[in-house]
Amino acid sequence: MELQESAFGFEIDRVVEAIEERDCEKVGLQFPQGLKRRATTVVDTLEERTDARLYVSGDPCYGACDLDEWLMRNTDMLVHFGHSPIKDSDDVLYVESRSDAPIRDVTLDAAEKLDADAPVCLVTTAQHSHVFEEARDILEDDGFEVVASGGGNRLNNTGQVLGCNYTSVVPDAPQVLYLGGGDFHPVGLAMDHPDKLLVVADPVNDQVREVDGEKFIRQRYAEISRAREADPDKWGVILSTKIGQRREEIAQYLLDNYDDTYLITMDEITPDRLLHFDADAYVNTACPRITTDDGPRYDDPVLTRVEFEIAVGERDWDDLSFDTFHGAWST
Ligand code: SF4
Repeated sequence: MELQESAFGFEIDRVVEAIEERDCEKVGLQFPQGLKRRATTVVDTLEERTDARLYVSGDPCYGACDLDEWLMRNTDMLVHFGHSPIKDSDDVLYVESRSDAPIRDVTLDAAEKLDADAPVCLVTTAQHSHVFEEARDILEDDGFEVVASGGGNRLNNTGQVLGCNYTSVVPDAPQVLYLGGGDFHPVGLAMDHPDKLLVVADPVNDQVREVDGEKFIRQRYAEISRAREADPDKWGVILSTKIGQRREEIAQYLLDNYDDTYLITMDEITPDRLLHFDADAYVNTACPRITTDDGPRYDDPVLTRVEFEIAVGERDWDDLSFDTFHGAWST
C-alpha cells in the first residue's frame, strides 16, 4: 500500500535513516489512538525500504509520556509517532504530527476577543508549534504585545502546552490565546489559570471561542465534597506503572503520612478496573487528566493529591489547584 503523506506526516525518510544508522533489526512503532489506523500503511512503507522487523504496539497511547516499555526493552529502537519529545532517548525516536491547517484568519478572528491594550500570552500544541512564530507575527502586526515562554523541561517548544503542563503560560499576562484544536488543552488551561481570559483559535475546525474554567472547578469541588463521605480507612492510592506517569514520591508520601491507605499499581486506569476493589475513594498520582476529565465516569471519587488533602482536612478549600507534571519524567 502506498503511503500518502498528509497533515499527519510520518517523516518516513527520517525513520528509515535512523533504522539504517542504528543498524536496527527490530523496530517498535507506537501510535496514539487517532493515528493507529495508519499503522499498517506505515509498516508497509517501512518494509519496502528496510529489512527491519516491525512491531506495532497495540496498547493505548495517550501522550509522549506513555511509552511502550516492552518494545523499548525488546527492540533496537522505538519510534513514537504523534507527540513531541519529553526527553531525548537513544532508544526512542519521536516523530511529531504537524497540522497543515492555515492559521491567519482564525488567529485574527480570535484576536478580536482579546484586549488590545494588554499583553497576550500565545500558547499552542506540538501539532501547531511549527507555525508558532507565524502566529506571533500575525498578532504583532495586528498591534498586540505578544509574550511567550519555553515553559518547563517537560515541554519541547516555545509556547507549547501539554495536558498536564501549562508552565509556558506567562504569569503576568492577563489573557491567553490558545492556537489549536479540541477541548482537552483549553480545559486544562482554564483550570490551571482560571484568572485569565482564555480565547481559543482552532485552525482545524476554523472556530474561535472563549473558555471559562468555572464549570470544571465546580466539578472538582463536588468531587471533593463526595470524597469527604469516604471511610478514612478505605482510600486507595493509585500509582501508574507507565514510565512517564509514575509519581512514586507522591504515592510514597501519601502512604507514609496517611495510615490505612492502600497502594494500587496500574498501567491502564479505568472505571471497570477500580470496581473490583473495596475502597471508598482514590488518590490518582498518574496522569492528572484521568482525574479531572474522566473522574465523573468513576463510581467512587478519584482525587488529586491536593484534593485529597482538602478532603481529609489537611488543607483549605482555597488551596485547590490543577495537578500538573513539571519534571521531564515523572519519577
Ligand atoms: S501525563 Fe497525561 S496529560 Fe501529561 S503528557 Fe501524559 S497523557 Fe498527556
